[in-house]
Amino acid sequence: MTQNLPYAEVIGDPIAQSKSPLIHGFWLEKLGLSGDYRRAHVLAEGLAAYVDERRNDPDWRGCNVTMPHKGAVMDLVDDPGDVRATIGAMNTVVRQPDGRLVGTNTDAAGFFAPLSEVELAGAPVVVVGAGGAARAVLFALARADVGHVTILNRSPLKAMGLLATFGLRGEVCALDTVLPPAALLVNASSLGMNGQPPLDLDLSPLPEDAIVYDLVYSPLQTGLLRAAEAHGLDTVDGLDMLIGQAALAFELFFGSAPPEGHDDELRALLVG
Ligand code: NAP
Repeated sequence: MTQNLPYAEVIGDPIAQSKSPLIHGFWLEKLGLSGDYRRAHVLAEGLAAYVDERRNDPDWRGCNVTMPHKGAVMDLVDDPGDVRATIGAMNTVVRQPDGRLVGTNTDAAGFFAPLSEVELAGAPVVVVGAGGAARAVLFALARADVGHVTILNRSPLKAMGLLATFGLRGEVCALDTVLPPAALLVNASSLGMNGQPPLDLDLSPLPEDAIVYDLVYSPLQTGLLRAAEAHGLDTVDGLDMLIGQAALAFELFFGSAPPEGHDDELRALLVG
């Protein structure tokens, strides 16, 4: 390992598929910053030892955390933002100069970044899914003070508690429910991902100014987004959130915001 080169990592099992090294490496190069961003294959049984070892490495700035460690890592780091009680999962750990490790979650802000100019207060929304990504989405939507929330999920019971957790008004429905006329539809489930069944929804109840946002980024152009475009609706794809959550983590790791004006180049790199 190069000495004194500040570095951050993404950890998970598996980890080969992670696009984070491409994103952070692109920004480091554009900014001409001296630093590195690596992939680390960390098994569940090795997570505590990994965290202990990195805690004592002054060159290590922190890590992004992906499956299956987003829950377990909360037991190993400080949680000043009370992430455990809200989103319930951490995707970023940052090492403080004194070796203290602080965990946070940049998914919620990354999700919301493309919607920051949209007036959502009081607006009805639909969220598909009730897993980790859906929790980050619901956290952000609660902050935006949205109106009635309809959660569609394969396991309705799992989704029931989420409305109360985030202080939202709404209901939980089965995946084949007729959509309400929502201003925003978010797919935060795995449906539509490569290797998963498609998300087949009839979008015709949505008003013509509705936004359809798919968190899935592999493939980038999902069946849901194609259907939304066919209905003339505005769409947001999963790369916006992926880049948005990475941007917040980058600043925490390397102390500089990502360079502006290179998003198209970065997106081309990520889909290439
Ligand atoms: P997760 O915690 O495993 O949750 C998966 C969700 O999908 C659950 O609601 C699950 O329903 C549902 N689901 C899975 N397989 C299904 C099937 N065959 N039929 C019906 N429902 C099914 O996963 P996650 O971390 O929330 O990730 C969900 C998606 O978001 C993934 O595609 C991931 O790549 C994407 N994501 C994107 C970003 C980004 O930056 N763009 C960030 C995070 C996640 P049950 O509750 O019934 O099991």
